[in-house]
Amino acid sequence: MNKIPKNIQLTLEISWVKLYIYTHNNEGVLVMTFLFQNYQRKPIELVNGEGCNVTDQLGKQYLDLTSGIGVSSLGHHHPVLTKALKDQVDKIWHTSNLYTNSLQESVAEKLADNKDYVAFFCNSGTEANEAALKLAKKATGRNKVFSFQQSFHGRTYGAMSLTGQSSIQQGFGPMLDDVSYFPFNDIEEIAESLNHEVAAVIVELIQGESGIHVAYKGWIKELFKLCQKQGILFIVDEVQTGIGRTGTLFAYEQYDIEPDIITSAKALANGLPLGAMLGKTYLAASFGPGSHGSTFGGNPLALSVADKVLDLVKQPELMENVCQRSTQFFNGLKQISSKKIIDIRGKGLMIGIELSDSLVLASVMNTLEKQGLLTLKAGKNVLRLLPPLTISQEEVALALAILEKVLAG
Ligand SMILES: *Cc1c(COP(=O)(O)O)cnc(C)c1O
Repeated sequence: MNKIPKNIQLTLEISWVKLYIYTHNNEGVLVMTFLFQNYQRKPIELVNGEGCNVTDQLGKQYLDLTSGIGVSSLGHHHPVLTKALKDQVDKIWHTSNLYTNSLQESVAEKLADNKDYVAFFCNSGTEANEAALKLAKKATGRNKVFSFQQSFHGRTYGAMSLTGQSSIQQGFGPMLDDVSYFPFNDIEEIAESLNHEVAAVIVELIQGESGIHVAYKGWIKELFKLCQKQGILFIVDEVQTGIGRTGTLFAYEQYDIEPDIITSAKALANGLPLGAMLGKTYLAASFGPGSHGSTFGGNPLALSVADKVLDLVKQPELMENVCQRSTQFFNGLKQISSKKIIDIRGKGLMIGIELSDSLVLASVMNTLEKQGLLTLKAGKNVLRLLPPLTISQEEVALALAILEKVLAG
Protein backbone atom coordinates (compact mmCIF):
# COMPACT_ATOMS: atom_id res chain seq x y z
CA MET A 1 0.00 0.00 0.00
CA ASN A 2 2.66 2.48 1.02
CA LYS A 3 4.26 2.50 -2.46
CA ILE A 4 1.17 4.08 -3.98
CA PRO A 5 0.61 7.86 -3.65
CA LYS A 6 -2.12 8.77 -1.16
CA ASN A 7 -4.50 10.34 -3.69
CA ILE A 8 -4.35 7.30 -5.99
CA GLN A 9 -4.77 4.99 -3.01
CA LEU A 10 -7.96 6.83 -2.14
CA THR A 11 -9.31 6.57 -5.71
CA LEU A 12 -8.53 2.87 -5.77
CA GLU A 13 -10.25 2.37 -2.45
CA ILE A 14 -13.31 4.35 -3.48
CA SER A 15 -13.70 2.47 -6.77
CA TRP A 16 -13.31 -0.81 -4.93
CA VAL A 17 -15.86 0.20 -2.27
CA LYS A 18 -18.26 1.25 -5.04
CA LEU A 19 -17.87 -2.08 -6.81
CA TYR A 20 -18.33 -3.91 -3.51
CA ILE A 21 -21.49 -1.99 -2.57
CA TYR A 22 -22.85 -2.47 -6.07
CA THR A 23 -22.38 -6.23 -6.04
CA HIS A 24 -22.91 -7.29 -2.40
CA ASN A 25 -25.91 -7.24 -0.02
CA ASN A 26 -25.83 -6.22 3.67
CA GLU A 27 -24.46 -9.61 4.69
CA GLY A 28 -21.57 -9.22 2.26
CA VAL A 29 -22.99 -11.86 -0.10
CA LEU A 30 -22.50 -11.33 -3.80
CA VAL A 31 -25.90 -10.49 -5.28
CA MET A 32 -25.50 -8.49 -8.46
CA THR A 33 -23.21 -9.42 -11.28
CA PHE A 34 -23.43 -9.98 -15.01
CA LEU A 35 -21.63 -13.31 -14.67
CA PHE A 36 -22.78 -16.87 -14.07
CA GLN A 37 -21.81 -17.83 -10.56
CA ASN A 38 -20.06 -21.07 -11.56
CA TYR A 39 -16.84 -19.93 -9.88
CA GLN A 40 -16.40 -19.14 -6.23
CA ARG A 41 -14.47 -15.91 -6.62
CA LYS A 42 -12.51 -14.09 -3.94
CA PRO A 43 -13.21 -10.38 -3.62
CA ILE A 44 -9.71 -9.48 -4.73
CA GLU A 45 -8.66 -8.57 -8.23
CA LEU A 46 -5.08 -9.19 -9.29
CA VAL A 47 -4.07 -6.30 -11.50
CA ASN A 48 -0.30 -6.66 -11.81
CA GLY A 49 2.27 -9.41 -11.69
CA GLU A 50 6.05 -9.53 -11.65
CA GLY A 51 7.82 -12.87 -11.31
CA CYS A 52 6.28 -14.66 -8.30
CA ASN A 53 4.61 -11.52 -6.97
CA VAL A 54 1.15 -10.22 -7.76
CA THR A 55 -0.61 -7.03 -6.67
CA ASP A 56 -4.32 -6.57 -6.08
CA GLN A 57 -6.56 -3.60 -6.82
CA LEU A 58 -5.75 -2.03 -3.45
CA GLY A 59 -2.03 -2.35 -3.94
CA LYS A 60 -1.61 -5.28 -1.56
CA GLN A 61 1.20 -7.61 -2.61
CA TYR A 62 1.08 -11.39 -2.51
CA LEU A 63 3.57 -14.15 -3.12
CA ASP A 64 1.85 -16.28 -5.76
CA LEU A 65 2.02 -20.01 -4.99
CA THR A 66 -0.75 -20.75 -7.50
CA SER A 67 0.68 -19.70 -10.90
CA GLY A 68 -2.96 -19.23 -11.90
CA ILE A 69 -3.58 -22.97 -11.27
CA GLY A 70 -0.30 -24.16 -12.73
CA VAL A 71 -0.41 -21.92 -15.78
CA SER A 72 1.97 -18.97 -15.32
CA SER A 73 4.77 -21.38 -14.50
CA LEU A 74 7.57 -19.06 -15.55
CA GLY A 75 6.17 -16.26 -13.44
CA HIS A 76 4.32 -13.12 -14.40
CA HIS A 77 5.54 -10.55 -16.91
CA HIS A 78 8.51 -12.67 -17.98
CA PRO A 79 10.65 -10.39 -20.19
CA VAL A 80 11.44 -13.03 -22.86
CA LEU A 81 7.81 -14.15 -23.14
CA THR A 82 6.45 -10.59 -23.11
CA LYS A 83 8.79 -9.69 -25.95
CA ALA A 84 7.90 -12.79 -27.96
CA LEU A 85 4.20 -11.97 -27.66
CA LYS A 86 4.66 -8.28 -28.49
CA ASP A 87 6.74 -9.17 -31.57
CA GLN A 88 4.07 -11.60 -32.78
CA VAL A 89 1.27 -9.08 -32.13
CA ASP A 90 2.94 -6.81 -34.68
CA LYS A 91 3.19 -9.59 -37.30
CA ILE A 92 -0.03 -11.62 -37.54
CA TRP A 93 -2.58 -12.83 -34.97
CA HIS A 94 -4.43 -15.63 -36.67
CA THR A 95 -4.03 -17.59 -39.87
CA SER A 96 -6.37 -20.62 -39.43
CA ASN A 97 -5.04 -24.10 -39.99
CA LEU A 98 -5.51 -23.86 -43.76
CA TYR A 99 -1.90 -22.75 -44.13
CA THR A 100 1.53 -23.99 -43.18
CA ASN A 101 2.60 -22.88 -39.73
CA SER A 102 6.29 -22.96 -38.88
CA LEU A 103 5.67 -21.94 -35.26
CA GLN A 104 3.54 -25.08 -34.82
CA GLU A 105 6.32 -27.18 -36.37
CA SER A 106 8.85 -25.65 -34.00
CA VAL A 107 6.75 -26.10 -30.84
CA ALA A 108 5.78 -29.66 -31.87
CA GLU A 109 9.43 -30.58 -32.35
CA LYS A 110 10.32 -29.17 -28.93
CA LEU A 111 7.43 -31.05 -27.29
CA ALA A 112 8.47 -34.32 -28.96
CA ASP A 113 11.86 -33.81 -27.31
CA ASN A 114 13.79 -36.17 -29.61
CA LYS A 115 11.16 -38.89 -29.27
CA ASP A 116 8.77 -40.32 -31.78
CA TYR A 117 5.76 -37.96 -31.34
CA VAL A 118 3.66 -35.70 -33.54
CA ALA A 119 1.40 -32.95 -32.21
CA PHE A 120 -2.11 -31.59 -32.60
CA PHE A 121 -2.74 -28.12 -31.17
CA CYS A 122 -5.91 -26.90 -29.46
CA ASN A 123 -6.80 -24.34 -26.79
CA SER A 124 -7.21 -26.10 -23.46
CA GLY A 125 -6.69 -29.24 -21.43
CA THR A 126 -10.18 -30.58 -21.92
CA GLU A 127 -9.86 -30.13 -25.68
CA ALA A 128 -6.54 -31.99 -25.70
CA ASN A 129 -8.22 -34.88 -23.88
CA GLU A 130 -11.12 -34.86 -26.35
CA ALA A 131 -8.58 -35.20 -29.16
CA ALA A 132 -6.89 -38.08 -27.30
CA LEU A 133 -10.21 -39.85 -26.81
CA LYS A 134 -11.18 -39.49 -30.47
CA LEU A 135 -7.75 -40.59 -31.69
CA ALA A 136 -7.75 -43.63 -29.39
CA LYS A 137 -11.18 -44.78 -30.59
CA LYS A 138 -10.35 -44.24 -34.24
CA ALA A 139 -6.89 -45.81 -34.12
CA THR A 140 -8.00 -48.94 -32.27
CA GLY A 141 -11.57 -49.31 -33.58
CA ARG A 142 -12.51 -50.12 -29.96
CA ASN A 143 -15.00 -48.40 -27.64
CA LYS A 144 -14.10 -48.90 -24.01
CA VAL A 145 -11.95 -46.44 -22.12
CA PHE A 146 -10.58 -47.02 -18.63
CA SER A 147 -9.95 -44.19 -16.23
CA PHE A 148 -9.39 -43.83 -12.47
CA GLN A 149 -11.39 -42.87 -9.43
CA GLN A 150 -10.82 -39.26 -8.32
CA SER A 151 -9.27 -38.36 -11.69
CA PHE A 152 -9.84 -35.04 -13.41
CA HIS A 153 -9.69 -34.63 -17.19
CA GLY A 154 -11.83 -31.58 -17.96
CA ARG A 155 -15.35 -30.23 -18.31
CA THR A 156 -16.48 -31.01 -21.86
CA TYR A 157 -18.56 -34.15 -22.39
CA GLY A 158 -15.81 -36.55 -23.36
CA ALA A 159 -13.33 -35.35 -20.76
CA MET A 160 -16.06 -35.02 -18.11
CA SER A 161 -17.06 -38.60 -18.83
CA LEU A 162 -13.45 -39.67 -18.29
CA THR A 163 -13.38 -37.81 -14.96
CA GLY A 164 -13.84 -40.22 -12.06
CA GLN A 165 -15.68 -37.81 -9.75
CA SER A 166 -19.46 -37.91 -9.54
CA SER A 167 -19.58 -34.34 -8.17
CA ILE A 168 -18.28 -33.06 -11.51
CA GLN A 169 -20.83 -35.06 -13.53
CA GLN A 170 -23.80 -34.37 -11.25
CA GLY A 171 -26.84 -33.15 -13.19
CA PHE A 172 -25.18 -33.44 -16.58
CA GLY A 173 -25.88 -37.08 -17.40
CA PRO A 174 -25.88 -39.31 -19.26
CA MET A 175 -22.11 -39.52 -19.62
CA LEU A 176 -20.32 -41.30 -22.49
CA ASP A 177 -20.95 -45.03 -22.50
CA ASP A 178 -18.11 -47.44 -21.99
CA VAL A 179 -16.01 -45.52 -19.48
CA SER A 180 -15.01 -47.40 -16.32
CA TYR A 181 -13.19 -46.00 -13.29
CA PHE A 182 -10.69 -48.13 -11.41
CA PRO A 183 -8.91 -47.58 -8.08
CA PHE A 184 -5.78 -45.45 -8.48
CA ASN A 185 -2.44 -47.11 -7.65
CA ASP A 186 -4.06 -50.56 -7.65
CA ILE A 187 -3.18 -53.10 -10.35
CA GLU A 188 -5.41 -56.07 -9.53
CA GLU A 189 -8.85 -54.87 -10.45
CA ILE A 190 -7.86 -53.16 -13.68
CA ALA A 191 -5.58 -56.02 -14.77
CA GLU A 192 -8.54 -58.41 -14.69
CA SER A 193 -10.60 -56.13 -16.91
CA LEU A 194 -8.08 -55.17 -19.61
CA ASN A 195 -9.01 -56.94 -22.85
CA HIS A 196 -9.28 -56.47 -26.61
CA GLU A 197 -12.36 -54.27 -26.29
CA VAL A 198 -10.45 -51.54 -24.49
CA ALA A 199 -9.25 -48.64 -26.66
CA ALA A 200 -7.28 -46.75 -24.03
CA VAL A 201 -6.36 -46.17 -20.42
CA ILE A 202 -6.06 -42.53 -19.38
CA VAL A 203 -4.16 -41.58 -16.23
CA GLU A 204 -2.75 -38.56 -14.43
CA LEU A 205 0.73 -39.38 -13.12
CA ILE A 206 -0.06 -37.09 -10.22
CA GLN A 207 -3.76 -36.55 -9.65
CA GLY A 208 -3.88 -32.78 -9.31
CA GLU A 209 -7.41 -31.55 -8.78
CA SER A 210 -8.38 -34.35 -6.40
CA GLY A 211 -5.53 -33.76 -3.95
CA ILE A 212 -1.99 -34.42 -5.28
CA HIS A 213 -1.96 -38.22 -5.34
CA VAL A 214 1.29 -39.49 -6.86
CA ALA A 215 1.13 -42.63 -9.04
CA TYR A 216 3.58 -45.35 -7.96
CA LYS A 217 6.25 -45.98 -10.54
CA GLY A 218 5.87 -49.76 -10.28
CA TRP A 219 2.12 -49.49 -10.84
CA ILE A 220 2.46 -47.30 -13.94
CA LYS A 221 5.16 -49.51 -15.47
CA GLU A 222 3.08 -52.65 -14.91
CA LEU A 223 -0.07 -51.03 -16.26
CA PHE A 224 1.80 -49.74 -19.31
CA LYS A 225 3.19 -53.22 -20.02
CA LEU A 226 -0.25 -54.83 -19.74
CA CYS A 227 -1.73 -52.24 -22.11
CA GLN A 228 1.02 -52.74 -24.67
CA LYS A 229 0.40 -56.49 -24.69
CA GLN A 230 -3.25 -56.00 -25.65
CA GLY A 231 -2.89 -53.07 -28.07
CA ILE A 232 -4.50 -50.69 -25.59
CA LEU A 233 -3.33 -47.11 -25.95
CA PHE A 234 -1.75 -45.58 -22.85
CA ILE A 235 -2.74 -41.93 -22.47
CA VAL A 236 -1.11 -39.75 -19.82
CA ASP A 237 -2.91 -36.52 -18.99
CA GLU A 238 -0.02 -34.15 -18.29
CA VAL A 239 -2.14 -31.02 -18.42
CA GLN A 240 -1.05 -30.16 -14.87
CA THR A 241 2.14 -32.24 -14.44
CA GLY A 242 3.76 -31.22 -17.73
CA ILE A 243 6.07 -28.41 -18.88
CA GLY A 244 8.62 -28.76 -16.11
CA ARG A 245 6.26 -28.82 -13.12
CA THR A 246 7.71 -32.03 -11.64
CA GLY A 247 11.35 -31.39 -12.57
CA THR A 248 11.35 -32.86 -16.09
CA LEU A 249 9.63 -31.55 -19.24
CA PHE A 250 6.96 -34.23 -18.70
CA ALA A 251 6.42 -36.37 -15.63
CA TYR A 252 6.27 -39.58 -17.71
CA GLU A 253 10.05 -39.32 -18.19
CA GLN A 254 10.42 -40.25 -14.51
CA TYR A 255 8.34 -43.42 -14.99
CA ASP A 256 10.50 -45.12 -17.67
CA ILE A 257 7.63 -45.29 -20.14
CA GLU A 258 6.81 -43.69 -23.48
CA PRO A 259 3.03 -43.28 -23.53
CA ASP A 260 1.15 -43.62 -26.82
CA ILE A 261 -0.58 -40.30 -26.21
CA ILE A 262 0.30 -37.31 -23.98
CA THR A 263 -1.96 -34.34 -23.38
CA SER A 264 -0.67 -30.92 -22.32
CA ALA A 265 -2.07 -27.45 -21.73
CA LYS A 266 -1.97 -25.26 -18.58
CA ALA A 267 1.67 -24.04 -18.49
CA LEU A 268 2.36 -24.58 -22.19
CA ALA A 269 2.04 -20.89 -23.13
CA ASN A 270 2.44 -19.41 -19.62
CA GLY A 271 -1.08 -17.97 -19.61
CA LEU A 272 -2.16 -17.80 -23.23
CA PRO A 273 -4.74 -20.46 -24.08
CA LEU A 274 -2.96 -23.42 -25.65
CA GLY A 275 -3.37 -27.17 -25.50
CA ALA A 276 -1.57 -29.97 -27.29
CA MET A 277 -2.04 -33.67 -27.87
CA LEU A 278 1.09 -35.63 -28.67
CA GLY A 279 0.74 -39.05 -30.25
CA LYS A 280 3.23 -41.65 -31.37
CA THR A 281 3.97 -41.22 -35.07
CA TYR A 282 2.31 -44.53 -35.97
CA LEU A 283 -1.03 -43.01 -34.84
CA ALA A 284 -0.81 -40.16 -37.34
CA ALA A 285 -2.54 -42.19 -40.06
CA SER A 286 -5.74 -42.22 -37.95
CA PHE A 287 -5.91 -38.44 -37.83
CA GLY A 288 -5.81 -37.68 -41.55
CA PRO A 289 -7.15 -34.55 -43.30
CA GLY A 290 -10.65 -33.63 -42.12
CA SER A 291 -10.69 -36.06 -39.17
CA HIS A 292 -10.35 -33.48 -36.41
CA GLY A 293 -9.74 -29.77 -36.01
CA SER A 294 -9.93 -26.55 -34.04
CA THR A 295 -10.38 -23.01 -35.37
CA PHE A 296 -8.13 -21.29 -32.85
CA GLY A 297 -5.87 -24.28 -32.14
CA GLY A 298 -2.22 -23.48 -32.62
CA ASN A 299 -2.85 -19.75 -32.81
CA PRO A 300 0.35 -17.77 -33.63
CA LEU A 301 0.07 -15.57 -30.51
CA ALA A 302 -0.05 -18.54 -28.13
CA LEU A 303 2.53 -20.44 -30.17
CA SER A 304 5.01 -17.55 -30.20
CA VAL A 305 5.01 -17.70 -26.40
CA ALA A 306 5.03 -21.53 -26.16
CA ASP A 307 8.08 -21.65 -28.44
CA LYS A 308 10.03 -19.58 -25.90
CA VAL A 309 8.46 -21.31 -22.87
CA LEU A 310 9.90 -24.62 -24.08
CA ASP A 311 13.37 -23.13 -24.63
CA LEU A 312 13.31 -21.74 -21.09
CA VAL A 313 11.94 -24.90 -19.46
CA LYS A 314 14.58 -27.01 -21.17
CA GLN A 315 17.40 -24.99 -19.63
CA PRO A 316 19.11 -27.27 -17.09
CA GLU A 317 19.34 -24.39 -14.57
CA LEU A 318 15.57 -24.05 -14.44
CA MET A 319 14.97 -27.77 -13.85
CA GLU A 320 17.76 -27.64 -11.28
CA ASN A 321 15.87 -24.83 -9.54
CA VAL A 322 12.67 -26.90 -9.54
CA CYS A 323 14.49 -29.77 -7.82
CA GLN A 324 16.29 -27.56 -5.28
CA ARG A 325 13.22 -25.49 -4.39
CA SER A 326 11.20 -28.70 -4.18
CA THR A 327 13.63 -30.16 -1.64
CA GLN A 328 13.59 -26.87 0.25
CA PHE A 329 9.78 -26.89 0.35
CA PHE A 330 9.40 -30.53 1.39
CA ASN A 331 12.14 -30.28 4.07
CA GLY A 332 10.66 -27.05 5.43
CA LEU A 333 7.10 -28.39 5.44
CA LYS A 334 8.14 -31.59 7.22
CA GLN A 335 9.65 -29.50 10.00
CA ILE A 336 6.39 -27.70 10.74
CA SER A 337 4.91 -29.27 13.82
CA SER A 338 1.16 -29.01 13.40
CA LYS A 339 -1.85 -31.08 14.39
CA LYS A 340 -3.58 -29.73 11.29
CA ILE A 341 -1.21 -31.54 8.88
CA ILE A 342 -2.17 -35.12 7.98
CA ASP A 343 0.16 -35.73 5.05
CA ILE A 344 2.59 -33.95 2.72
CA ARG A 345 3.04 -35.26 -0.83
CA GLY A 346 3.91 -34.40 -4.40
CA LYS A 347 6.81 -34.13 -6.82
CA GLY A 348 8.85 -31.15 -7.97
CA LEU A 349 6.86 -27.99 -7.44
CA MET A 350 3.50 -29.77 -7.35
CA ILE A 351 2.92 -29.97 -3.62
CA GLY A 352 -0.06 -31.10 -1.56
CA ILE A 353 -0.46 -30.62 2.19
CA GLU A 354 -3.40 -32.65 3.42
CA LEU A 355 -5.08 -30.91 6.36
CA SER A 356 -7.44 -32.35 8.96
CA ASP A 357 -10.65 -31.20 7.25
CA SER A 358 -12.17 -28.78 4.77
CA LEU A 359 -13.03 -26.13 7.37
CA VAL A 360 -9.46 -26.05 8.60
CA LEU A 361 -8.31 -25.74 4.99
CA ALA A 362 -10.65 -22.81 4.29
CA SER A 363 -9.54 -20.97 7.39
CA VAL A 364 -5.83 -21.66 6.70
CA MET A 365 -6.15 -20.41 3.12
CA ASN A 366 -7.88 -17.22 4.29
CA THR A 367 -5.23 -16.50 6.87
CA LEU A 368 -2.45 -17.20 4.36
CA GLU A 369 -4.08 -14.78 1.95
CA LYS A 370 -4.23 -12.08 4.64
CA GLN A 371 -0.54 -12.74 5.31
CA GLY A 372 0.24 -12.26 1.63
CA LEU A 373 0.41 -15.85 0.39
CA LEU A 374 -1.87 -17.10 -2.41
CA THR A 375 -2.49 -20.86 -2.35
CA LEU A 376 -4.85 -23.40 -3.93
CA LYS A 377 -7.26 -26.02 -2.78
CA ALA A 378 -7.31 -29.59 -4.12
CA GLY A 379 -9.84 -32.25 -3.23
CA LYS A 380 -11.73 -31.51 0.00
CA ASN A 381 -8.93 -30.79 2.41
CA VAL A 382 -5.62 -30.47 0.58
CA LEU A 383 -3.66 -27.24 0.46
CA ARG A 384 -2.08 -27.26 -2.99
CA LEU A 385 1.03 -25.29 -3.93
CA LEU A 386 1.93 -24.74 -7.59
CA PRO A 387 4.46 -21.89 -7.37
CA PRO A 388 6.20 -20.55 -10.47
CA LEU A 389 9.16 -22.77 -11.39
CA THR A 390 11.31 -19.65 -11.22
CA ILE A 391 10.68 -19.14 -7.49
CA SER A 392 13.86 -18.18 -5.60
CA GLN A 393 15.38 -19.62 -2.44
CA GLU A 394 14.45 -16.43 -0.54
CA GLU A 395 10.86 -16.59 -1.75
CA VAL A 396 10.48 -20.22 -0.70
CA ALA A 397 11.97 -19.32 2.69
CA LEU A 398 9.43 -16.51 3.04
CA ALA A 399 6.57 -18.81 2.00
CA LEU A 400 7.69 -21.44 4.52
CA ALA A 401 7.89 -18.85 7.32
CA ILE A 402 4.31 -17.75 6.65
CA LEU A 403 3.09 -21.34 6.31
CA GLU A 404 4.77 -22.23 9.58
CA LYS A 405 3.18 -19.27 11.37
CA VAL A 406 -0.30 -20.15 10.07
CA LEU A 407 -0.13 -23.94 10.35
CA ALA A 408 1.84 -24.38 13.59
CA GLY A 409 0.12 -25.66 16.68
C1 LIG B 1 -6.81 -28.49 -15.57
C2 LIG B 1 -6.82 -29.88 -16.05
C3 LIG B 1 -7.59 -30.26 -17.16
C4 LIG B 1 -8.53 -29.33 -17.85
O1 LIG B 1 -7.87 -28.28 -18.49
P1 LIG B 1 -8.73 -27.04 -19.04
O2 LIG B 1 -7.70 -26.20 -19.74
O3 LIG B 1 -9.36 -26.37 -17.87
O4 LIG B 1 -9.75 -27.59 -19.96
C5 LIG B 1 -7.48 -31.57 -17.59
N1 LIG B 1 -6.68 -32.46 -16.97
C6 LIG B 1 -5.93 -32.13 -15.90
C7 LIG B 1 -5.05 -33.15 -15.28
C8 LIG B 1 -5.99 -30.83 -15.40
O5 LIG B 1 -5.26 -30.52 -14.31
